[in-house]
Amino acid sequence: MKKIYSILVLFLLSAFLSITVLQAQTTADALKKHVSFLAADSLEGRGLGTEGKEKAMHYISVVFSDAGLLPFGPNYFQEFSFRKELIRVNATNVIGYIEGSDEQLKNEYIVLSAHYDHLGFDTKNDGSKVIYNGADDNASGTAALLELAKYFGSDQNTPKRSIIFIAYDAEEIGLLGSEFFVEDSEVVDFEKVKFNFNFDMVGMYDSYGGLDITGINGIANGKNKAKELAKEYDVKLKKTTASIEPFTDTYSFKKTGTPAVHFFTGLKSPYHKPEDTYDLLEYEAMAKVVNYSAALTKALANEEELEPSGRFKNLQSPFALRLNAGVSGIFTNSYHIYRDEFFNAEDVPGGSFGLITQLDIGKRVTLQPGVFYAYHGSSAPGGNYRAHSLDIPVDAHINLISQYGGQLKLFLILGGFYRHDFSTRNADVDGRGIRDEDHGFSLGFGFRATRLQFTFVGRSGIQNLTRVPDMDIRSQGGLISLSYLFFK
Ligand SMILES: [Zn+2]
Repeated sequence: MKKIYSILVLFLLSAFLSITVLQAQTTADALKKHVSFLAADSLEGRGLGTEGKEKAMHYISVVFSDAGLLPFGPNYFQEFSFRKELIRVNATNVIGYIEGSDEQLKNEYIVLSAHYDHLGFDTKNDGSKVIYNGADDNASGTAALLELAKYFGSDQNTPKRSIIFIAYDAEEIGLLGSEFFVEDSEVVDFEKVKFNFNFDMVGMYDSYGGLDITGINGIANGKNKAKELAKEYDVKLKKTTASIEPFTDTYSFKKTGTPAVHFFTGLKSPYHKPEDTYDLLEYEAMAKVVNYSAALTKALANEEELEPSGRFKNLQSPFALRLNAGVSGIFTNSYHIYRDEFFNAEDVPGGSFGLITQLDIGKRVTLQPGVFYAYHGSSAPGGNYRAHSLDIPVDAHINLISQYGGQLKLFLILGGFYRHDFSTRNADVDGRGIRDEDHGFSLGFGFRATRLQFTFVGRSGIQNLTRVPDMDIRSQGGLISLSYLFFK
């Protein structure tokens, strides 16, 4: 009973506050109220197809309605279904809009979004539940969205362009709510959508030490406005990029050519763990983020011209160029083959390390030149040949699979290398006089998962390494590399 009273008091108090404050500024208390409801145990982690998730959905629709948002259709619910293993699962986006104030510009749209689903709960052997409350992921973003709906729903804050507010379902199993909205729902012509701001995990600004708005440089003048207002609102911007973040709902906008911006305060909460609870979030800072987001949305929504930036258009093109770099370590196994003799040398282990750069040419091809220090050799009957060398490999990666903006890839490798030995031991094994320069080709495959890249490559020298007439010795090697890329 006590709990019910305190909830009632809290509710009345916040209702009173929201009337008196008139939506000028979002408060920490308002956000905390949303998050403590959405991430409560009674909502059981807002899992797909559960009653807890239905409660969240209704809560969102009530806030939309109180804020004065209009529905597209008879209500705020946009239902869709999909197959998961053998069962059909029903899911629901919650969606509403406010009409812009300008006669012309109101035909253009801004989409503000956040996913409200989470992982649900596990049932233990003894029948008890382990609930994934999902406070930061993503009751925080949903709360931000609700407060933005209230802010823009208030008459004095109506922007020139129309704003669509959407709380997505089924994000956690693969961005399905946003995918449905963008690809199948036909609610809006995406030619007329100017940008998307998506809020996914925005509750840990202090711990993270700032706010990421990846994708903001995709809007012409977006970065300038963002920086200008960040000063005014005392917000520290950490990461601003032009490319669209692939691991959240912004990615569904990629195919439409619409700039989409991910608001994010890092993976500081207990990500995808039952401990992601409402008491951990930093509400004062979150209010600052929401007020800043409101100001930025409003400023951009009122711009006379609102277009994607040149950089964004370039990224969208099928031949878009993109640079990356990284460090790489390689285990090698190398030996010499004696093409004219009845025996072969045996392999010896070695290794190398160095720097790589990558140039993505569209989705299909990546060029990867590198520079390495290498230690290699070969074991001959007359003794072990060993050398320290400088290696310059240039590889082309042909992507067989490329997902999430190239962050998950499987590729073939075709390449060449040049090698210069600067220090050798037993170069005169059996009096053969091994040259200190070599070159050849490489063949292999590799895969990349975000910043890590693994490759498996075979190398063959095409240069005769000996100066002795009538003798042909060539290098051969296997390489297993692990690279860390500096950018995702
Ligand atoms: Zn999320």
